Amino acid sequence: MIFDKKKLIEFRQDLHKFPELGFMEKRTKSQISKILRKLNIDVHEGSGILGILKSGSNKKLIALRADIDALPISETTNHNFSSQNSGVMHACGHDGHTAMLIGAADILASKRNFDGTVIFIFQPNEENGLGAKSMLDEGPLSNLPIEEIYALHNLPGEPVGQLSTRHGLICSSESLFEIIIEGQSCHASMPQMGKDAILIGSEIVQSIQSIVSRKIHSNSGIVISVTEFITNGNRNILAGKVTLKGDARAQSKEERIAIEKFIRQISKGIAITHDVSIEVKFKTEFIETFNSKRPTDAVIKIGEKIGLNVTPNRKPMSFSEDFAHFSNCFPGCFFLLGNGEKEPFSKPLHSSYYNFNDDLIEIGRKFWVALVEDRLPKL
Ligand SMILES: [Zn+2]
Ligand SMILES: [Zn+2]
Repeated sequence: MIFDKKKLIEFRQDLHKFPELGFMEKRTKSQISKILRKLNIDVHEGSGILGILKSGSNKKLIALRADIDALPISETTNHNFSSQNSGVMHACGHDGHTAMLIGAADILASKRNFDGTVIFIFQPNEENGLGAKSMLDEGPLSNLPIEEIYALHNLPGEPVGQLSTRHGLICSSESLFEIIIEGQSCHASMPQMGKDAILIGSEIVQSIQSIVSRKIHSNSGIVISVTEFITNGNRNILAGKVTLKGDARAQSKEERIAIEKFIRQISKGIAITHDVSIEVKFKTEFIETFNSKRPTDAVIKIGEKIGLNVTPNRKPMSFSEDFAHFSNCFPGCFFLLGNGEKEPFSKPLHSSYYNFNDDLIEIGRKFWVALVEDRLPKL
C-alpha cells in the first residue's frame, strides 16, 4: 500500500493546487496514471483514464467513477494549497473524489480481497457534461459488460458521515435556451417609430416565469431562470435587438419537452403581438440521472454496514450530473456524502470560497472498498 491517510490528503491538496479545466486535465491525468501503473493496474488513456483491475476468476465487472476537472473560478480561500492556476479552481471537490478513488484502488490492488473486475473511471469534463460521452464514444468502456456503475459527490451543508441517495431520479436535466428578438431601433425620444426589443424581451422574461405553477404544477421540481439579457441599445438609442439566455432544470424527459414547447409558444405569441421576429434555440446539455434498483440497494446496504447515517430516499437534486450518460448505459447509482454543516465546509459548491473536507477521503475510500468486496465477493 502506497498511501496512508496523510499521503492521500497531500495528493488531494496537490491536485487542488494545480486545477485544470475540462478536457485540459493533462497534469491531473499524468498523476493518476502514474499511481495506477505503480499499483499494477491496467491503464487505458483517452480523454479520461480507465484503470482495470482483475482478481480471481469471476467474470463480473463493476465500475466506480470519479470526476477530475475543475471550474473557471478565481479561488478566494487562503490555504497553502490554494489554486496556483489563475482563474481555475477545484470548486466542486472533484480533487477529493479523485483522491478517494485512488485511495480505494490502492487498497484493492494491494489486498485483492475480491473476485472479479473493477473498472476505475477517472472522467474528464464533468462540468460541461461532455466527458462521460467522450469516454463512451472512444471505447473500450462502452463495449465492456459492466453490471453495475457507481459515483458519489460531496454535498456541503450536510453532516460528515451522512450518505444520501434515492431510487429512480436523483439529478435533474439541464437545458440551455436562447431567445433572439429582432425589433427595430430608433431615436429614444420617439419610441413609437421603432419596435422596442427591451420591452418585448421583458414580456418574455415575465411570461416564462409563469410556466412553473400556471402551466406545469409547482411541485414539479422544474427550475427556469433567465440568466442573460443582452441588448444593442445605447444612451439615446432604443434597442432593436435583444438576446435572452437562460437555463432550465427538469426531472423527466416529458417535462423537458413541455418546457421547450411553452417557451416557443410564449415567444411566438409575443412576436405576433408586437410584429417582430423571434428565434428560439433550446438544447439539452445534461440528461436526467436515474438510479437503478440493485446498485441503489447496494449503496444503502454498504453505507449502513460501514456505519454511515443513511438517508435512502432524499429529494432529487436540482443540479445535473454527467454521470447520467454512464447510468444510461449501465445500471447505476449516484449518491451524496455530506461535506459538513459548519464553516468552512458548508460553503456551496461552485463558490470561490468552497472547501472540500479532507475527512471525507477516508469515508469515501472505505465505502468504495467495502462496496467492491460486497459486489465481487471472494468465496
Ligand atoms: Zn460542479
Ligand atoms: Zn461536481
